[in-house]
Amino acid sequence: MLRHNMTCPECGNFTDTVTDPIGKPALLRPGSVMICLYCGHVSIVADTRGNVREPTTDESLEIHQDPLMRLVLACRKMVMERKKEKPHGKG
Ligand SMILES: [Zn+2]
Repeated sequence: MLRHNMTCPECGNFTDTVTDPIGKPALLRPGSVMICLYCGHVSIVADTRGNVREPTTDESLEIHQDPLMRLVLACRKMVMERKKEKPHGKG
């Protein structure tokens, strides 16, 4: 089983929770796409030890053309912009 304690290669934040974009139990495996909710960086799970790698050019194109991935990235961006506007979580 793949451990869920990974570090984002972009921002260095520790990721110990994994969620499927539509709320189903997440099954990470090599090749899974990981989106860091701290910084929005997109990585690919490289192996069963929890290492991640940068997506290839083809993978990056596929990810950014996938409607669900586009929705997840847009939602993340919207939430982060709201946090900047209301840093104390009010409203
Ligand atoms: Zn990050």
